[in-house]
Amino acid sequence: MRSLSCDVLIIGAGPAGSSAALSSAKEGLDVIIVDKKDLPSKTACAETISKGFFRYLPFKIPDRLLKHRLRGIKFYYEEFFVKRDKGIWWKSFTIDRREFDPFVLNLAIDEGATFLASTEFVDLRYSSGYIVNKVLLRDNKNNELTIYPKIFIAADGAQSSVLNAMNLSKNRAYSIGYIKSHEFHNLDLSDYEYGHVYFGEFADGAYGYIFPKSRNVANIGVASLTDKELDKRYKEFLHMINREIGNGTKKIDRSGIAPIMGLSEDIAYGNTLLVGDAANQNLKPFVEGILPGIICGSIAGQVAAQCLNDIRNIRRFYKELIKKKIGKFFKESDALSDILVNIYDKRYRSRFLIELATFSYTLEYGELQKLLRLNEEDIETLLKEKLA
Ligand SMILES: Cc1cc2nc3c(=O)[nH]c(=O)nc-3n(C[C@H](O)[C@H](O)[C@H](O)COP(=O)(O)OP(=O)(O)OC[C@H]3O[C@@H](n4cnc5c(N)ncnc54)[C@H](O)[C@@H]3O)c2cc1C
Repeated sequence: MRSLSCDVLIIGAGPAGSSAALSSAKEGLDVIIVDKKDLPSKTACAETISKGFFRYLPFKIPDRLLKHRLRGIKFYYEEFFVKRDKGIWWKSFTIDRREFDPFVLNLAIDEGATFLASTEFVDLRYSSGYIVNKVLLRDNKNNELTIYPKIFIAADGAQSSVLNAMNLSKNRAYSIGYIKSHEFHNLDLSDYEYGHVYFGEFADGAYGYIFPKSRNVANIGVASLTDKELDKRYKEFLHMINREIGNGTKKIDRSGIAPIMGLSEDIAYGNTLLVGDAANQNLKPFVEGILPGIICGSIAGQVAAQCLNDIRNIRRFYKELIKKKIGKFFKESDALSDILVNIYDKRYRSRFLIELATFSYTLEYGELQKLLRLNEEDIETLLKEKLA
């Protein structure tokens, strides 16, 4: 069995892990990043990134990766309609993750990180205080490899096996959202410069969506806080938007899961930092995780360099830097998750109107909290007035 030592070992070469590899390699650390795939490229994604996050990124995204510009988002529930396109946060781009994820990984490799492809995390050993000192990996030829890292970064996504191996996963109700989705081709979309978001029974607790990648191609799906009858509800949604789909055909299955609440109690333990989906670093209500994962991954790499030889402050530095940089977005996101879960759980009669008002930011968080204290009838009347 081969064995290696390194400063930083990162499990998962998605956007968050690759960004952590890039920033720690830039700091001159000896970095190994592994992925069970030969090249990262997540298929479970609507591939939409908000322009508002660009200014927080550690690198510029080349124009060639920004495939299609979206002017804003249109929201629909029965006869109610809201259009949002004012301000940078409603502007976005669709990307192709088959190109985007390898691009970020290659930046890290160019900076000196070692990438071990087709290499899966198997298990680990840690001493008291969650100091991970030995990590077991296996490649696709069944060769085993042991790595002894100083700092360990878990970037292995929403189904993190690192969290399981460290007994850190907590099974809370509604901690995961379920998405049934496909990339459709051969469409002839009438309104392909906007994302389209729909509410109703088909998407309980969340939404149905069309995020165009061009006039002819779009990611179309249904997200929900339950996986119950998701296939059936996806069919209902496709039926509802059948005029948009026309002769469109399903090309790539993009179904998957996304964290809605923290998958573990904290995002740093001992010498271990969690980044990206493994750390619930996506923003609700849209579970936008690509750019937040890159931003937090970059912070994790910097903190790894800062704390390489003394990890006592690693947790504090990591959390403080995230808070300083994009903490306000996570705070808002956590508050929104609570509202979404609450309205789903309590089965409010007018929950789809509340979702429409929440997702479209028609009501501010404070207003929403006040609204939910009213009785059902008043909630409905007030929302109908507001959304008319
Ligand atoms: C259907 C759907 C639609 C979404 N749409 C959007 C969107 O439009 N915009 C947006 O910003 N976000 C979206 N998200 C969220 C986004 O995809 C994630 O937040 C983002 O991919 C998180 O990045 P990550 O690097 O943390 O994890 P991932 O991208 O999941 O990468 C994790 C990597 O770890 C590897 N890995 C996993 N286990 C192991 C193991 N045991 N050993 C080695 N490697 C391993 C995987 O192969 C993978 O490459 C969506 C999510 C879903 C499910």
